[in-house]
Amino acid sequence: MKTSDFTEKAETFPPWGDKRGASYFTISELTSSATAQREGIDNRPPTSAYHLLHVLVEQLLDPIREAWGAPILVSSGYRCKELNELVGGAKNSHHLLGCAADLIAGSKAEHLKLFNLIRQMQQAGKIRFTQLIWEGDGRWIHISYVPSDLRCQVIE
Ligand SMILES: [Zn+2]
Repeated sequence: MKTSDFTEKAETFPPWGDKRGASYFTISELTSSATAQREGIDNRPPTSAYHLLHVLVEQLLDPIREAWGAPILVSSGYRCKELNELVGGAKNSHHLLGCAADLIAGSKAEHLKLFNLIRQMQQAGKIRFTQLIWEGDGRWIHISYVPSDLRCQVIE
């Protein structure tokens, strides 16, 4: 799908938030990309990806952020095909669907703590995910939530 195929853009969507109040994460945080900006790529998501990003936040990112109790940055969330190719993402990357986020929470040591926290939350039945991946030698943590495939696969 090309960006020109999109009929609805993210900026037309309402902001997120649940009964408790605002989400910890925003649509712009989950779609902005320095690479896309530099290369002039329109990385605003189609409706389907917008909704899947929302599910990702509700089911994983907000509960994880709440349990972690400190800032978590998303270094990459949704990626359109052009952007995914530019950053060398896998052809079937969950980032293309709006189902994945790369998390940054400080040092490698902190990433290890966060990685273990996410595993413990899954083992305690608090969350389910598709994949949890220790990436870039611990420079970031990749997590995905594909609603039809919650296999809870951990890749270290
Ligand atoms: Zn990733």
